[in-house]
Amino acid sequence: MAGAGDQSFDGVERRGLMFVLSSPSGAGKTTLSRLLIERVTGLSMSVSVTTRPMRPGEVDGRDYVFVDHARFQEMADSGALLEWATVFDNGYGTPRAAVEMALSSGNDVLFDIDWQGTQQLREKAGKDVVSVFILPPSAADLERRLHTRAQDSREVIRGRMSRASHELSHWAEYDYIVVNHAIEEAFAEVQSILKAERLKRERRIGLTEFVRGLQKQLER
Ligand code: 5GP
Repeated sequence: MAGAGDQSFDGVERRGLMFVLSSPSGAGKTTLSRLLIERVTGLSMSVSVTTRPMRPGEVDGRDYVFVDHARFQEMADSGALLEWATVFDNGYGTPRAAVEMALSSGNDVLFDIDWQGTQQLREKAGKDVVSVFILPPSAADLERRLHTRAQDSREVIRGRMSRASHELSHWAEYDYIVVNHAIEEAFAEVQSILKAERLKRERRIGLTEFVRGLQKQLER
């Protein structure tokens, strides 16, 4: 699934990776994703399609591509979605072409998707997927963030709180768990995970050639 290798910072060719952040709504995943995209080079965001209504402040094509149910179904049926799931009665899915293009141009791809999507990606891309689950420090904190966000009605917030407990139950399916006490610390932790995963031997497909080159120089 991960495309051609890129030239990473140290000149060793590497397989691209699919970096997944999941959490219950309100645990800070959207902010963490934004910080990662702003501050980390070689990482591009997968913009999902969704049938849910746009929230105030959201931009079509940046936060999501907003589509109707018929268009969503058409994309799912034709294989245009790499994974898809129903969340809060709406369809959410990852357009396949954009991910494949980013990976083949040497970027890693960041996904803000739920546990259902993460399971599907894992089935398709195996070890090219690195998954991180973000936990809120407490239920009160989660509720406060959902209210401060002020984008959803009271009813929607109640629904999200009751879903949160179910979503949390999937934590053990993830490679890494980060508790978001403070956004800058959580960001530093997530960034460290990405840095270390980029250095993993099995992703660094150019290592044999690189070391061979070093040996040649040493033996001269
Ligand atoms: P929200 O409506 O708050 O933007 O997102 C609701 C949930 O849907 C979040 O947990 C988010 O991670 C998840 N989600 C967003 N896009 C996708 C997607 O493309 N696929 C899947 N499986 N989940 C998604």
